[in-house]
Amino acid sequence: MSQTEDSPAFQVIDIFMMSVKCGNCDKYQTVVGFDMSHPDKNVYTYECDWDVSPDCDVNVTRTIVEVPKHLDNSTRRAEELPYYKRTEE
Ligand SMILES: [Zn+2]
Repeated sequence: MSQTEDSPAFQVIDIFMMSVKCGNCDKYQTVVGFDMSHPDKNVYTYECDWDVSPDCDVNVTRTIVEVPKHLDNSTRRAEELPYYKRTEE
């Protein structure tokens, strides 16, 4: 039993507060894609930076992070990024 279960403030996820590191080149990966079109989850795509890891094949090392929509606190900041593509029905 966790004491935080009754406390909504602890039950949010902000992907910009966490780091995603590549297991292949050992460098940090960058968010390159957002998919908000799923009803129950937001899907974020991370890839290695070409400048930092030119030898890392993103098709092999690409990372997909799924965040349950009701816990996701990242979308507001995601929309501020220049490469954010809004997906509306
Ligand atoms: Zn890499």
